[in-house]
Amino acid sequence: MGSNLGDRAGHLERAVAELRLGGVGVKRVSSIHETEPVGFRAQPWFLNTVVEAETALFPIQLLDRIQAIEIRMGRRRLLHQGPRTIDIDILLYGNFRIQAGRLIVPHPRMAERRFVLEPLAELAPELRHPVSHLTIRELLATTPDRSTVRRLSKSPNQQITESPNRP
Ligand code: AMP
Repeated sequence: MGSNLGDRAGHLERAVAELRLGGVGVKRVSSIHETEPVGFRAQPWFLNTVVEAETALFPIQLLDRIQAIEIRMGRRRLLHQGPRTIDIDILLYGNFRIQAGRLIVPHPRMAERRFVLEPLAELAPELRHPVSHLTIRELLATTPDRSTVRRLSKSPNQQITESPNRP
C-alpha cells in the first residue's frame, strides 16, 4: 500500500482497518517506509507498507475488495502514476501465477521497486518469487532501483512517526 497525499500514515492505517472489515485476515504489517517517488518524480514522497494476510476470497474478489476500499477512501485517478490518497496492490497470492486481464500476479513491477522490496523483505526475506524463484532478499540485493527508501517506524504496528512531505 502507498499514500502520498494528506495524512499518509492515517490512510495506511485506515486501509488496514478496511481490509480487516472486508473479510481479509491481516496477519502482519511491515514498518512504514518513506519512499522517493519513482516514475513521475514531481510529487510528494510516499509512505509505503506491506501487509501479509489470509483470505478465503478468490484473487479477483480480493481485487474488487481493494478497489472498493480505494474508492471509499477518495482515491482519484487524475494522473497516471500521480499523487494518490491510497494505492493498494496485490503483490503475491500464495505461489500462484495469475494473468486475468484485470489482474496480474505476482505484480509485474514488484522486483523493480525498492519501495516494495524493502518492506516485503522485512516480513518475508526468504520467500521465493513464484516466477524468478529468487528470494525477496536476493531481489532486493539485485534490483537496479536506487531510489531512496527510509524505514520510519521501528517495528510492525508501532506508533507511526510522520514527517513532512517533500519536496
Ligand atoms: P494502479 O493505478 O497502479 O493502482 O493500477 C490499477 C490497475 O492495475 C487496475 O486496473 C487493476 O485491474 C490492475 N492490476 C493488475 N494487476 C494488479 C495487481 N496485482 N494488483 C492491483 N491491481 C492490478
